[in-house]
Amino acid sequence: MAFEIVAACVSCTACEMVCPNQAISAGELHFEIDPGLCTECAESYPDPQCASICPIEGAILDELGDPLNPPGSLIGILPQVAA
Ligand code: SF4
Ligand code: SF4
Repeated sequence: MAFEIVAACVSCTACEMVCPNQAISAGELHFEIDPGLCTECAESYPDPQCASICPIEGAILDELGDPLNPPGSLIGILPQVAA
């Protein structure tokens, strides 16, 4: 299993520094996770270290494509529901 970094990533480098498996590196457009190295931190941490430090909502997705930091989770403001 592995997570994925998507276009919302602002390439701040924070996750690269905390990944215990050196699974994160700079890609052509944004940082990327090597699926062969990412263990979802399951072996050594209660939470994925990349998602714990990432300041951008929606930048890292789980294996189902759901954001680890969903809208509203970091800034505390839930997105408006369309009328
Ligand atoms: S979940 Fe853990 S192992 Fe996987 S990329 Fe994030 S910090 Fe690295
Ligand atoms: S911490 Fe988030 S925004 Fe920063 S490089 Fe990693 S995925 Fe991109």
